[in-house]
Amino acid sequence: MELLSEHPVPEHAREVKQEARAFAQEHIAPVAAEYYESGEYPWDVLEAGMDAGLVGQDLGEDVGGKGYDLQQVLAIAEELYRADAGIALTLQLASFGAEIVEDHGSEAQHEEYLRPVANNDRITGLAVSEPETGSDLAGMTTSAEKHTAERSSASPESTEATQDGDEWVINGEKYWIGNGVEADWVTLYAKTGDDPNNRYGNYSMFIVPTDAPGYDAEHIPEKMGFRASKQAHIVLDDCRIPEDHLIGVEGAGFYMLAEFFNHGRIIVAGHGIGLAAAAIEESWEFVHDREAFGRTVDEFQAVQHKLADMQLQFQSARSLAWDAAERVANQEDAGYWAALAKTAGTEAATECSQMGMQLHGGRSVLLENRISRVFRDARIPVIYEGANDIQRNLIYRQTPQ
Ligand SMILES: Cc1cc2nc3c(=O)[nH]c(=O)nc-3n(C[C@H](O)[C@H](O)[C@H](O)COP(=O)(O)OP(=O)(O)OC[C@H]3O[C@@H](n4cnc5c(N)ncnc54)[C@H](O)[C@@H]3O)c2cc1C
Repeated sequence: MELLSEHPVPEHAREVKQEARAFAQEHIAPVAAEYYESGEYPWDVLEAGMDAGLVGQDLGEDVGGKGYDLQQVLAIAEELYRADAGIALTLQLASFGAEIVEDHGSEAQHEEYLRPVANNDRITGLAVSEPETGSDLAGMTTSAEKHTAERSSASPESTEATQDGDEWVINGEKYWIGNGVEADWVTLYAKTGDDPNNRYGNYSMFIVPTDAPGYDAEHIPEKMGFRASKQAHIVLDDCRIPEDHLIGVEGAGFYMLAEFFNHGRIIVAGHGIGLAAAAIEESWEFVHDREAFGRTVDEFQAVQHKLADMQLQFQSARSLAWDAAERVANQEDAGYWAALAKTAGTEAATECSQMGMQLHGGRSVLLENRISRVFRDARIPVIYEGANDIQRNLIYRQTPQ
């Protein structure tokens, strides 16, 4: 069955969609079960994805990327997540957050940090969430304090200030950070102000090399899903970075993230759609093969209705995602459409995989079966890139009037 049809995908994104499909069939699907079981970081698949030109290529041609637009990245996401969500996330996260540097960073930052990512010599991550909160972006506590040379001369007795020079000193913790261990640098969100009347103006974004003094990251414990992706707990203990590692304007971090998430949430809708497609095709095949009461179970109307309901969810979410992708690209009520698409796409995945489990009967719970992997994976995109409760808040608040 062909669920990820070409139809809603615009002409210019179809070639890369085919490339992603061929790559997923050759390099992801055959090893998905193995990586799911081991939970190892799929370095070989990541390298193959780089060779295939599917990693970090949303970065612009001026820094050596292919400049894939939102629709092209969505097309890639649908195909890769259908094959395996954990491996797909690893491939897509290799440049996660770098887009913020591209949109707001300096020429020098582009050359030093973006070009190696676009050339697939370096990988990145985006460090926003903290142990105490992932949802409240204006409630995060990791701080970045500027220590200047002037301050050292003003306090000659302070040896600490003298050592600091012109730099940012970061303290705090980040949690759930994709590639926090593996990345060469992360785009990090930290508090730089304390104005209670301007909660959203208190945050800034930074480039933090993972070998900076005071940066320490460990993998977080094993997850039930997305097994081939790795997240980290980062501890920043007087972590020192040069002054010019601030991205764009001080105090604009919250707004940079909001803009970034509008794009990111369209792509996460694609994560859900890929997973939902996997649930439907796996279930379809199973019920046409499984026999009960002297016939294959697809002949029972209750089973047919489940497969019909799964497709209702899937097709509705997919139409919305592609419509929203165009609107977000055109900056038309972007926050509203991105939140709608993310919620619908990721909930299509939870609904379809839940029904798929039921259709698989007892075999659904065997860890080796694809449906059980999809079911476990589907629990995750409803949380990341802003939990769906937060998306509903955004949908309500940003309803076009
Ligand atoms: C596999 C995985 C990968 C991730 N990768 C990254 C990454 O690379 N970088 C990164 O920065 N983060 C990452 N995250 C973190 C993710 O973005 C957060 O988990 C998410 O934003 C939710 O935050 P939280 O877990 O702290 O939940 P909390 O914020 O503690 O929320 C708990 C519950 O309360 C609800 N809730 C909270 N506030 C409200 C509200 N105002 N209205 C209604 N309901 C509310 C939430 O919806 C949720 O159900 C990842 C998470 C996972 C699981």
